Amino acid sequence: VAKEAGRNNRKLYDIGMNAEKRHRAMLNDLMHGAIDRGEMHLVYQPQVEVRTGRIFAAEALLRWNHPGLGLIPPSTFVPIAEASGLIGRIGDWVLETACRQNRAWQQAGGEAITVSVNVSARQFMERDWAQTVGRVLAATGLDARFLDLEVTESMLMRDVGRAVATMRELKALGAQLSIDDFGTGYSNLSALKRFPVGRLKIDQSFVRDLASDENDRAIACAVISLGRSLGLRIIAEGVETEEQVAFLTLHGCDEVQGYHFGRPMEARDLARLLGCRDGPGRLPDQDGAAAE
Ligand code: C2E
Ligand code: MG
Ligand code: MG
Ligand code: MG
Repeated sequence: VAKEAGRNNRKLYDIGMNAEKRHRAMLNDLMHGAIDRGEMHLVYQPQVEVRTGRIFAAEALLRWNHPGLGLIPPSTFVPIAEASGLIGRIGDWVLETACRQNRAWQQAGGEAITVSVNVSARQFMERDWAQTVGRVLAATGLDARFLDLEVTESMLMRDVGRAVATMRELKALGAQLSIDDFGTGYSNLSALKRFPVGRLKIDQSFVRDLASDENDRAIACAVISLGRSLGLRIIAEGVETEEQVAFLTLHGCDEVQGYHFGRPMEARDLARLLGCRDGPGRLPDQDGAAAE
């Protein structure tokens, strides 16, 4: 009986896998042309300097709103696009849209901020990707210092030599580099020292339970002091409470991002916070097309 039950379970499991596979394949098909149909757009989440309360940057976050399926989260569709290779085109579009938007805010008289763009492993490992970034900067007119590229540890560890070379090219362009989700990857500390990054983002999984979890407090403190001793800036993500802000600042983390300071928002809403002029036709729309 046990054996039979085992077989049955096994069968159900296989059917489950197939359904999951089919669903992923369907989403991948639907993703073709999603940009051209206007189903994807970017929202922007403020990054704040605690001491002054100033918004100095915003992270661009991708949203896919499918007319039939509704809003599909990036945690679902980005890995699928990454696996199929679609992320290349989508990522290029994200980069260009974010740069154009940031330029549009500046042209509308907004306070100049940096825009942070998430880079996928696939994009980053593309040959001559730094040249693509250079072309996008030239095409959008955004000064490279207002672009920050967020990469992850696991991405960099795939091929350290190659990653270092690409990062040097990006630095040479004048762009900023951050390591996203820091602490969740395979942290090769000796490699970390070779990466020309300016900033670590403490992963939100360590921030969430700061109030109650002693281990998370220890990890957050360790990341902050590691980063500081390497001369890096540190930002905490997923900051939701005043208590978390107090703990993080007390321990030397001076940049924060999270619902406590602002949710990811439409470009026009951030434009308002940045003090952009909003006369008719002047307010940059979500993809920057309406600017000046
Ligand atoms: P991430 O880059 O680590 O982005 C942070 C995620 O945390 C975002 O989720 C953001 O909305 C969420 N978040 C921000 N503040 C808080 C908070 O206070 N509490 C909580 N619980 N969550 C908060 P989102 O937008 O769903 O994005 C998820 C992930 O998808 C991103 O993680 C990133 O890895 C990926 N992603 C998003 N946009 C892009 C993109 O344009 N390209 C690529 N390659 N990946 C992207
Ligand atoms: Mg990110
Ligand atoms: Mg992150
Ligand atoms: Mg992430």
